[in-house]
Amino acid sequence: MESKTNRLRTTAEIGKLVANHYVDLNQAHERGQKVAWTCGGGPFLPLLAMDVMYHHAPSYAAWCCGRKVNDEMLRYSESAGYLPELCSYKKVSYAAALQIMEGAPMRPEVMLPKPDFIFGVRNCPLMLFWLDSIARLLDVPLMVIEQPQPATLRDYELNYERNVDYVERQITESVIPFLENITGRRLDYDRFSQLVSVMGKVVGLRRESRELTKNIPSPCTFFEFGMSQAPVMNLAGEADAVGYFERFRAELEQRVSQGIAAVPGEKYRLYWHHIPVWHKIGHLTEKLASYGACLVAAQYSHGEGFPSDPSVYNPEEPIRSMARQIVYSSRSRIPEVGNEQIVQMVKEYSIDGLIMHNHQTCKYIDIGEADLLRHVEETLGKPGVMIDCDAVDPSHYSEAEWDVKLKALLEIIDARREGAQR
Ligand code: SF4
Repeated sequence: MESKTNRLRTTAEIGKLVANHYVDLNQAHERGQKVAWTCGGGPFLPLLAMDVMYHHAPSYAAWCCGRKVNDEMLRYSESAGYLPELCSYKKVSYAAALQIMEGAPMRPEVMLPKPDFIFGVRNCPLMLFWLDSIARLLDVPLMVIEQPQPATLRDYELNYERNVDYVERQITESVIPFLENITGRRLDYDRFSQLVSVMGKVVGLRRESRELTKNIPSPCTFFEFGMSQAPVMNLAGEADAVGYFERFRAELEQRVSQGIAAVPGEKYRLYWHHIPVWHKIGHLTEKLASYGACLVAAQYSHGEGFPSDPSVYNPEEPIRSMARQIVYSSRSRIPEVGNEQIVQMVKEYSIDGLIMHNHQTCKYIDIGEADLLRHVEETLGKPGVMIDCDAVDPSHYSEAEWDVKLKALLEIIDARREGAQR
């Protein structure tokens, strides 16, 4: 089928880049490097500063979707007793751990080395259970940084410095001694500072790229922007990540100056809520484009959950920079902040309608989606639909539901445009 979208040259690099990352990871032990499995809102620069190679479990689940092994890995976990409605990100990691322990054959492109330890930032209640169960299964040590969870903006602002101190103490008193003990080497602070400096540049470039997607027509779909998360999570702090984002931004700038749209004839600009549907990313991009619809922005890629504010990174204070990043990323999960950010996004990115991914195995981020839709409708008069799906599990995908709800949304947008012209 002929593509209805203009794919970016730069994002086509990601497959190779991530494939190389997994090859490197699988050879880490031969090079004498320790390996960590991680999850939570990185970046995990202290690991890189200690020459530990890591893989980020959610990125791995997305990678498995691209290699079409997601379904069999989920079922593998379920056959070991996990419930179908449990977090699908977690179940993919658990399947990999089980396969390692059982010596079951794995496809070479999704093979993982047994880790020397598990490391994470707990930013979802389930995550601690996820990390702990994998550490117990693999019989390796576990280190988790607890992220404070402010309930209100006032709480966040009032306790910001106290919370940064709290996370900084966890890194200084627990994480660094733990890493020094496991690796048998001292933390290289110069290397750590250098990584923090590079990370600040990467985040700055990513933010500038994000601004370019406000252009009408948009030079990039959210799905391609979301895929560009991979260099941040897998190459965090590496010079390659700077090079990637320089090329990414330059390509977007070129498109903006030449009026090149990601979706030719862009007719509808949509907002996406929640994690991308990794196993249908290409299919959904084409489906939307066949209606002239472009997913322009999303909280996932354009919000603050992942590293997004370059001002938190100061190479003079690498540990405090990490602590600030961890505290800062909790901000967008405060309902009043998250809701206001989405209202702002709808305005700034000239959004016509919203698609709320009602993620069947991530109820944590689902909470409040219906209220959010109502809030945007009441505040800005923009319509939206909720669609049941799952980032990784194909059994929750319904083509019929997508067709009916997407058409309904676009018809409402058309009807409102006509009404506005009368
Ligand atoms: S339940 Fe949701 S937020 Fe929590 S780990 Fe799974 S995907 Fe992430």
